[in-house]
Amino acid sequence: MGSSEIKNFGILGYPVGHSLSPHMYRAAFDAAGYPNYNYISLPVQSGKLYFAVEGLKGLEFRGANVTIPHKTMVLNFLDGVDADALIIGAVNTIVNDGGILTGYNTDVYGFLASLKEADFLPEDSHAVILGAGGAARAVLWGLCKKRAEFVTIGARNPQKAQKLANDFLSYGQVEGFDWHSDEFKEMLQSADILINTTPLGMYPNVDDMPPVDLKLLPEGVLVYDIIYNPAETKLLRTAREMGFPTLNGLPMLLLQGVESYRLFTGEFPDTDIMAQTLEKILAAND
Ligand code: NAP
Repeated sequence: MGSSEIKNFGILGYPVGHSLSPHMYRAAFDAAGYPNYNYISLPVQSGKLYFAVEGLKGLEFRGANVTIPHKTMVLNFLDGVDADALIIGAVNTIVNDGGILTGYNTDVYGFLASLKEADFLPEDSHAVILGAGGAARAVLWGLCKKRAEFVTIGARNPQKAQKLANDFLSYGQVEGFDWHSDEFKEMLQSADILINTTPLGMYPNVDDMPPVDLKLLPEGVLVYDIIYNPAETKLLRTAREMGFPTLNGLPMLLLQGVESYRLFTGEFPDTDIMAQTLEKILAAND
């Protein structure tokens, strides 16, 4: 480990100035003895994505992360896409091997690894997901991969919840509901884990929370909010005060980054340094 070779990395998104990724990867590169590995924010407007992705080849970037709003569109501009990313329909990591760009989705790795850290076994569980957007797709695929017994999706738009469920029907038992419906409330009563994938409660709207009656959940259910800013959302605070175990989105953010680093370099990073860097920045934002 350690090298004086120059390698460039970045994160494609719009807007992307708020991203924690440059801090996290730079800290990991420094710790590994790669002072000449650069990681920068790459703001790319939607109509320019093709040129930006081609530019990764021209500029000989070794890799890049991809964030909102490009995670789905970018699939069209890559030379190959790994199986997880193809099923999820979203790429958050690109590796450039001599001009061949391959897309990966490490959110699913980050999600499953975070469950391990919380000692939650998804196998044979009944998982309830709130929201039916991009992050929900990665979470749902992770649960299907691990053979959750049943996955219930609740969203404000029942058509979107049902569409997401239908997309994954060949991988597991999944149903989508309006989260205000009686059927959904009944499903909450047999949940083993509740996972919020909506932005409700995310900074600066910290007084928001998904409209779920936590009193319906059985005792001991893990309440997981993939939001990491603030560290404790209103949903998690309410759940904790009611005695439920809780988990925030920081481990998922960290662990997707750990897996992307491994794909970029073929090595495992110093996870503690990456975690400390994220925590320090988020604490300064409070
Ligand atoms: P997305 O694709 O826009 O999906 C958001 C979902 O939340 C959609 O189902 C959307 O419903 C719903 N939603 C949005 N605003 C809502 C509101 N006011 N009331 C009710 N439902 C609402 O976003 P995403 O990429 O999935 O990201 C969602 C969240 O996950 C963000 O907070 C993001 O920071 C977080 N995230 C965390 C990690 C991590 O590593 N911890 C990774 C990825 C994402 P409609 O379709 O009806 O609009």
